[in-house]
Parts: sequence; structure tokens; C-alpha cells
Amino acid sequence: MNLFITLILFFFSIFSITSAQFYGDPPDETHPWAVHDNNRPQPMKVKPSALPGDPPSDAIILFDGTKNSFFKNWEHENPRRKKNWIVRNQRLISVKGAGSLISKAKFADCQLHIEWSAPMKIVGSGQGRGNSGVFLMGETEVQILDNYNNPTYPDGFAGSVYGVMPPMVNALKPPGEWQIYDIIFRRPVLKDGKILDEGSLTVFLNGVVVQDNTPLEGGGLHKKRSKSRAFPIVGPLKLQDHGNPVQFRNIWYRELRKRPIEGGTDGALSSTASNEKRMEIAETILNKTQNEDGIKKLLLLMEALCYKNDDEVRLTVHRLSEKIIMDIKKYPEGNENDAKQIYQALKYLERHKIVDTEHPNTVSLKKIIEKEGWAK
Ligand code: MG
Repeated sequence: MNLFITLILFFFSIFSITSAQFYGDPPDETHPWAVHDNNRPQPMKVKPSALPGDPPSDAIILFDGTKNSFFKNWEHENPRRKKNWIVRNQRLISVKGAGSLISKAKFADCQLHIEWSAPMKIVGSGQGRGNSGVFLMGETEVQILDNYNNPTYPDGFAGSVYGVMPPMVNALKPPGEWQIYDIIFRRPVLKDGKILDEGSLTVFLNGVVVQDNTPLEGGGLHKKRSKSRAFPIVGPLKLQDHGNPVQFRNIWYRELRKRPIEGGTDGALSSTASNEKRMEIAETILNKTQNEDGIKKLLLLMEALCYKNDDEVRLTVHRLSEKIIMDIKKYPEGNENDAKQIYQALKYLERHKIVDTEHPNTVSLKKIIEKEGWAK
């Protein structure tokens, strides 16, 4: 290996130790995490399916083609109905007069996958041809309709948020073929009558985006204009019986991460929520200092300061760094890495105004580094 590469690797190994924590911009008023923060939890591993459209490892399956999954996961909405939906050839089929089907699982924000097929035998026109519907939380309908060759009012098309927004395009296959919906749903959130989030639907029909973060505006109604409103906390998925034998298969969903307005800690937060999370992260880091001493302890304390502006911690950092720097000054040999790590961290804290600039500890450490020729 040539000398240049060796040197690069050497410096990378030194600085990668501290750079993880004293690297990107620190937490601020509305962000509890630093930029590139290694204290953030690692994303959970999910095993994707072998075939696109099949459920990944963390999906909750509502219908897999078996009668068992139908009985386990669904119930009829109307207890006085005369007929039932049926499962045949691994398909779930809507039966006229059976009424809507609702999932036993209640949930809200989700990624939903559902495949449907309108009857091959064309009967009726407009809203009467291959009509069903996917009701998120039982409240807002993504329309199912055979519009392959069947005009109707656009806000009632397949892929529309019914009564609210037409699909961008008509990406349907002919009736009898499987149509695929991939839906991302966010429920509306209102607090004290104030809209914090209107709620939204993003819909892919056969891989083509037809709704792009469409505001729900109350979720949509038949003939009436819906108004923004709160939804319940959770609700069932509802499949509509609109009198046409529409078929379904491969139904699954995954829950989405919480938005900041619901207590999520990713993204821009309120200053109260950000501060709360910062205190929690600081405590976790401070707890780790219990089992450490020397430079490891010092770096953890400095790291905690990035989250929590605490005079006591600042004083401990001051005293401990003073002691360690004195030791390095006395016995510089073999302490080059430590000196550089502390210096880099101190400069970071200074740069972000977490400690005073030109602090005596930083100044004396800089002098040692220069004197020993470590700055090169
Ligand atoms: Mg419908």
C-alpha cells in the first residue's frame, strides 16, 4: 500500500471515532437530533417480498386467498343481511345485498396494498359498472369502478378520492384483469377544532401515481361537499358492496411512523416536544458516563451538552478536560489521538456556541498540538 493511502486511512480511523458525534449541526429549537446523529435509532430491518406487491416481513395480512384469513380478519357490517361475501378460487368476492365488509383490525395511517378485478362480463354503465370501494378507516373512499371504457363524473372514477379529487390519469386495465392499488393514507388530525393536518391520500394504480398527497377535505361525500373534520383515532378498512361482483386478492397493510403532531420524533417538532426529546437523549448519554472515565467519559459529557444546556455538566466538562489536557501536556507521548479528539470536540462545541469560544482549555490544547507537531 502506498504511503499516501496509508496516511489517509490512518487519519480517517482517528477522526471517525469522534466525527460520529461531533459532526453535523447539533440539535436545535425544533430538531431534537443533530444532522447525521448516531443516537437516532437504526431503521428497523424489513425483509422485502421476492415479488413486488407481495407482503414484506412486517406487513399485516388481511387476505391471502384462504378462507381462514377471510374469517380471521373480516366481518360483515350489517348483522341483518341475507347474504355473505364469498371466497372462491382464492378470491374474495363482493355479493349484492351482503353489505360492506369491514376488517376486524382497526388502524389509521398506513401503506395499503389491495388488488381488485371488475367483472369481465360488462353490465351497466357509469357508477353502475364494477363499483366497489376501499374505505380507509371506514371513512374515506378510494373508488373502485370499471372505467376502462366507461366515462363517469371524474371525482367518482376509479382511483378518485370519491367526491373530492379525480385521479390524475386513467391507468386501468380491461375488466377481468387484476388492478393494483398501493395507497398511503394519513388521517386528519384536528386539535381544539384547529386543523393540524388535513389528512391525505397518495394512490398508485397499477404502479401509476393517481393521487399525490391529496388533502382529504373531510374525506368526501355523495352529492355533498365534505368539510374538514377529525377522524377517530383508528378505524377498520371497509370494502364496499355496491351491487357488483368485484373480486379482491392480496390485501395487506403496514402502519406508518407517527407524525410530529402525534408524538413522532422525526422531522421538525414543536419546541416543547423537541426539548423533551433532547432531555431524554441527554439522560441516556449521561447514564453511559457512569461506567466510563478519562477521555471516553469526557467525550460523552461533551456530547450530552449538545442536547442539554446544563451548567453542572459544563463545569464537569471544564474540570475533566483541564485535567486530561494537563496529563497530555506532561506525558505527550502516545497521546496524540486523545489530544486531537478532544480538540476536535471542543472546537465543535465552540463553533456551535455550546461552550465559550477561545476557552482556556481549547487554547492550551491547541498549543500542545502545535508544539508536538501533531497539527501536520
Ligand atoms: Mg364505490
